Amino acid sequence: MLDQTLSATLKTYLERITEPIELVASLDDSRASAQTRELLGEIAALSDSVTVREAGADELDQRRPSFAIVRTGSDVSVRFAGLPMGHEFTSLVLALLQVGGVAPKVSEETAAAVRAIEGEHHFETYMSLTCQNCPDVVQGLNAMSVLNPRITHVAIEGGAFQGEIESRKVLAVPTVYRNGELFGQGRMTLEEIVGKLDSGAAAREAERLGAMEPFDVLVVGGGPAGSTAAIYASRKGIRTGIVAERFGGQVMDTMAIENFISVQRTEGPKLAAALEEHVRSYDVEVMELQRAASLTPAAGPGGLAEVALDNGAVLKARTVVVATGARWRHMGIPGEAEYRNKGVTFCPHCDGPLFKGKRVAVIGGGNSGIEAAIDLAGVVGHVTVLEFMPELRADAVLQRKLFSLPNVDVILNAQTTEVLGDGAQVTGLDFKDRATGEAKRLELEGIFVQIGLLPNTDWLGQAVELSQRKEVVVDGRGQTSAVGIFAAGDCTIAPYKQIVISLGSGATAALSAFDHLIRTTAPAEAPHVPAAGPAPAAVPTGV
Ligand code: FAD
Repeated sequence: MLDQTLSATLKTYLERITEPIELVASLDDSRASAQTRELLGEIAALSDSVTVREAGADELDQRRPSFAIVRTGSDVSVRFAGLPMGHEFTSLVLALLQVGGVAPKVSEETAAAVRAIEGEHHFETYMSLTCQNCPDVVQGLNAMSVLNPRITHVAIEGGAFQGEIESRKVLAVPTVYRNGELFGQGRMTLEEIVGKLDSGAAAREAERLGAMEPFDVLVVGGGPAGSTAAIYASRKGIRTGIVAERFGGQVMDTMAIENFISVQRTEGPKLAAALEEHVRSYDVEVMELQRAASLTPAAGPGGLAEVALDNGAVLKARTVVVATGARWRHMGIPGEAEYRNKGVTFCPHCDGPLFKGKRVAVIGGGNSGIEAAIDLAGVVGHVTVLEFMPELRADAVLQRKLFSLPNVDVILNAQTTEVLGDGAQVTGLDFKDRATGEAKRLELEGIFVQIGLLPNTDWLGQAVELSQRKEVVVDGRGQTSAVGIFAAGDCTIAPYKQIVISLGSGATAALSAFDHLIRTTAPAEAPHVPAAGPAPAAVPTGV
């Protein structure tokens, strides 16, 4: 199961183990069980601190194949059901290390909060091996169960337990159950999970944030634009904060980035982690997992703008950089919200494997829709692409690939009008043939919506001028219609929505904010200006 390179790497990691661990396997005579036996045997052969055995009749788990990683002679353990390869291999390696005594990489504050969680919590996470959001949840819950043995966790590869995902109607990953009840869906960090379990934590955090001193530059958004703005501002030696609901932004939703210049190919989560690490290497106040709810620009020159958060805290700042990016556009038709994650989904990479052998529709014939259809055609039984316009809008090369596939149909001029379901999951959709006006119906199990992006600007209200498409209107310096408020990236009217473009506009907005500060702030409260030279007379060019 492990090639030579992987074995060598894992062997080096396992040298860090300080506590002996046991791999206890629950197997049957399936092929998957044989593979699990082989994998566990290979892992145990790499370290004297790791042993493997098959579970006795009294400890056999109902899910087979599955295995527990147990700290010998203790109640510390984590369990995997199915083979944790693909994106979950890292989760397996981390689980081996952490159960083996290597401390999970979490702040002291978070570790203490996890240890203080009371009561018994049994978590079950359904994941797929191609889902890039799943490892965060799996690794977070594994770390929690290592820190606090009253928390137990099993990560279940949905594709290997089809009967179980069908009976629980799991149609999106990651899906997490706690003590048998649905706990959450989608990417969640360890801190978010702790926040959900410990209701007092959110109130304490709101109090802490509300008491903060005003920022010189407050960035809202932690994608490429926001991260760059925070770094550029901090490099000027001024008080910088960044509020982000999810670090990395849209970059987290893609596995292949090939146009981040100077890096031939990278993966979204990798780039997102690098952005976060870079921001944290500077003196920036990072306020992650916080949503901005409203913006009030300063009442007059030299005044303070206010950003109110969802949790009630109000942050004050001399300048604000809005970099809240964009999100998937919804169809806005009956049934869509009701069946979200019950067959209606936005992430083909994540949820495709849950529709193995089934019929799905892709709504949208642009590049992302056609890429999704090509990707899904290799996994699901049949794909129908519905495009609103009389022709597909995707690049010719993608269309050629699409039409070469045997299990794909394309319907043009199709206006999807309703998502149909049986109360628990999607059973089909209705659409109108725009050429004839005829109402038609498709029976299927999954709907992947790929109809573009909407700017995340609802929270701004009337604070700054928005275009008809609800994008923030900015000039060449990132200045919005409100004094002291700048904007960058996909939430603005910038014509092309790309990573390098967002990075550049984030830098522009931060430098413009700095320029604004040195021109408008009274000397006593002026931000620190580097001693090397005089304040720039125009837009600073050297950074
Ligand atoms: P975003 O990345 O959208 O980040 C927005 C940030 O704001 C996030 O941190 C979000 O959590 C936060 N936020 C939103 N609302 C709030 C709020 N109210 N309060 C606090 N925080 C908030 N581009 C390329 O160049 N190459 C590619 O290969 C590529 N592939 C892509 C694949 C996919 C599937 C997608 C969806 C996009 C892809 N893009 C690609 C586009 C690229 O990801 C975006 O252009 C870029 O991420 C935009 O950066 P941003 O910082 O402006 O916004």
